[in-house]
Amino acid sequence: MIAYPELHLTRYLHGPGPSDCDPRVLQALANPAVGHLDPDFLKIMADVQRLLRLVWQTENELTLPISGTGTAGMETAIANLVEPRDPVLVCVAGYFGERLVEMATRYGGDVARLDCGWGEVFDASQVADELHRRPAKLVAIVQAETSTGALQPIAEISKAVHEAGALLLVDAVTSLGGVSVGVDDNDIDAAYSCTQKCLSAPSGLSPFTFGPRAVEKLRNRKEKVRSFYLDLNLLQQYWEVPHVYHHTAPINMIFALHEALRLIEQESLAARITRHLTNAERLWEGLGELGLAMHVPLEHRLPSLTTVRVPEGIDEGAVRKRLLQDYKIEIGAGLGALKGKVWRVGLMGYASAPDRVSMLLDALKHVTVTA
Ligand SMILES: *Cc1c(COP(=O)(O)O)cnc(C)c1O
Repeated sequence: MIAYPELHLTRYLHGPGPSDCDPRVLQALANPAVGHLDPDFLKIMADVQRLLRLVWQTENELTLPISGTGTAGMETAIANLVEPRDPVLVCVAGYFGERLVEMATRYGGDVARLDCGWGEVFDASQVADELHRRPAKLVAIVQAETSTGALQPIAEISKAVHEAGALLLVDAVTSLGGVSVGVDDNDIDAAYSCTQKCLSAPSGLSPFTFGPRAVEKLRNRKEKVRSFYLDLNLLQQYWEVPHVYHHTAPINMIFALHEALRLIEQESLAARITRHLTNAERLWEGLGELGLAMHVPLEHRLPSLTTVRVPEGIDEGAVRKRLLQDYKIEIGAGLGALKGKVWRVGLMGYASAPDRVSMLLDALKHVTVTA
């Protein structure tokens, strides 16, 4: 391989994403490109779809990666599901919930929001009450809020949403491949994720799935999807027979995603989810021993991303700076309402490992004692 000396820097990525790529994914990325309609590439695309269904835990036919990062997946879901004046409810529990409000508004939705504290989760009855007061066609929620480290109870919320006759859109950006999403079991109508969090591939694709009710909404739209690039009708014609050109697929990123998904199949999704939880528990225990407090109560805590309260009198930026300079470890700062109050520590995909937990705890111990 040709070296790229400027980038031969060691980094251990333990922030909110990107996470470290699996070395096998990086090798896949370095393969020579093939044509985007090459028969061998079409076979790889079909296998990517099969593996995405496995990781999403779904039979949904319309399951494919969107070209673009997680935000492109978010925009695809909104652009295809929201028509002007459609009543939409967004459950906002952090920064990415806010982004869903903004996007649904830009696409002309009549958007209402239900808020909870940053680090808290919704009770399904709150969602049911809100939908009773003000019915909506679509409810959107972030399952794993990367800005707060809380995991929403999707199964219960899904029931409330469907009893009210709405569709459920779930942001699974920081859950897919690390925490169970269970699209079919939880009756999720639409979901998107990204490649650079628990899948341990570079950023650039957004795994996406649309269930039967979402497809029906798409087919019955009164007007065309306003985004040409993210129109699922057109994307589906490329991903499925007759494989009509729409845009040139990011070929090497699809190789990378394919390898990342094969790694999950080899490990098994169940084992991977257990690994994320076990390593997170190791981290939580160790942080407790260092006298550091977690922001989210144990029962709602997200295994892939932990928010740690910054102790009184400690310069949170200085700690992050020293971790990066002296230990080559990246962790994240607090965002929005939690700015300056927490650190965000990710244990995602390849980097969810016992040796990484020990390394993080050791470094944090030295740095916080002397900060
Ligand atoms: C990272 C993230 C996004 C945005 O993904 P990008 O890949 O940065 O575009 C959306 N939602 C959540 C919950 C995220 O953590």
